[in-house]
Amino acid sequence: MNNISYVSTRGSSDKLNFRDVVFEGLATDGGLYIPDKWPKLDIHKIDSFSSMSYQEIAYEIIKLYVDDSLSKDELKKIISESYCNFDHDDITPLIHSHDNQYFLELYHGPTYAFKDIAMQFISRLMGHYLENDNRNINILGATSGDTGAAAIEGFKNITSAKIFILHPHNKISEVQRKFMTTIESNSVHNIAIKGSFDDCQNIIKKIFSDTNYKISKNLTAINSINWARIMCQIVYYFYAMSRLPNNKNTLFSVPTGNFGDIFAGYVAKKMGLDIKMFNIATNENDILTRTLQTGIHALKNVKETSSPSIDIQISSNFERLLYDITKDSEYVNNLMHELKNKKVYNLDESILHKIRQSFVSNSVSETNVRTTISNLYNSYNLVVDPHTAVGYTSSIDLRETYNNIVTLSTAHPAKFKDTVVDIINNDNFVTKKIHDIINRDEKMTILENDVSSVQKFINTSV
Ligand SMILES: *Cc1c(COP(=O)(O)O)cnc(C)c1O
Repeated sequence: MNNISYVSTRGSSDKLNFRDVVFEGLATDGGLYIPDKWPKLDIHKIDSFSSMSYQEIAYEIIKLYVDDSLSKDELKKIISESYCNFDHDDITPLIHSHDNQYFLELYHGPTYAFKDIAMQFISRLMGHYLENDNRNINILGATSGDTGAAAIEGFKNITSAKIFILHPHNKISEVQRKFMTTIESNSVHNIAIKGSFDDCQNIIKKIFSDTNYKISKNLTAINSINWARIMCQIVYYFYAMSRLPNNKNTLFSVPTGNFGDIFAGYVAKKMGLDIKMFNIATNENDILTRTLQTGIHALKNVKETSSPSIDIQISSNFERLLYDITKDSEYVNNLMHELKNKKVYNLDESILHKIRQSFVSNSVSETNVRTTISNLYNSYNLVVDPHTAVGYTSSIDLRETYNNIVTLSTAHPAKFKDTVVDIINNDNFVTKKIHDIINRDEKMTILENDVSSVQKFINTSV
């Protein structure tokens, strides 16, 4: 289809084609892959999206990023299969709640968080390539909750891939865990590590740094920085804008951890979509809010909040924005080394200025998250999860400035039911599916917090 290639933000890895970028997480130079140019859509094309389905829009967007390793019909088939088991016909319905406030519900996939939108597609795409090559892989990843479930759900029927997901033992919500551990499939392996999420990630990093081991076991990483995830998420910004009655002067408010979801919106803008502004909504882990205020990007310790999927200090995809704004991989390299060595970097005033042309950022306290969940329920009979509450609350002071505010609703409230029930004193929003999952048998292996026990487990399972 196209002649697009993918370059590393740090400039010293080889360019990749689409098919290879799907299987590569991190570039060998430590950078993230990004297309060498942004495909543009003209205004007539974008206008025509208002009469297209989500799947049709997805095809129009994704086809611009793939190459001839995938035919048009193959792409259409993968899109159609990826979104056939969502529980809403619109896939990501745009809900008008009141005044100029909208919610883009991204949680209608099988594991109730927006991660399904990319994972359903990527698992089938990888399965397609593997089948063509008659190749098998073993997928390895760590999760703090939502990504692992979406990945397991996506890959459970892909016969050419086994999947191993590490999560921190007793440190994720019951519903998050059960979404992973109740799946019946011989190719799925859940490993609970006696340690923290950081410990899980360190084990994965160490295993992947052993190149011989990685090759001998056909290991592929599944993580939050894969380009294909961003690509899939661009689609719903086009979808949302096509459904707004008048989309001029619209702000998107995005609960942000790793900066992947909001970066996808920025890419949509680069492709020609007329989005006025993005609000980087943060909880008390406010590193990006501080960065936009001061230009100083300084790491602090992670705080545990009611919105755990955005309890993050290292916001990996921010690197992609820095690269896109500067097109200077040496500059990006220097910043990332400073962050690693000194836990802080300073942005040049000119770069901060460019970031502020597309982004604002506001952080939300735990108290205000709870107040919002309660207010939205009492005033509008709307039940939102804590991440969505961060997104909504974070843009409250901006409502006069924009014609429309679209908050990305990133998880179903039932996924965080203990927090939500505690606030609204009612569990009617908990679906039958969640009740069923809670009662199902679980399958997982609890392992010590060390590399060799995980390697031993993999050796006996592949
Ligand atoms: C992953 C996640 C986020 C954060 O998305 P990023 O792309 O990491 O910024 C927000 N909300 C929920 C529910 C998530 O699972």
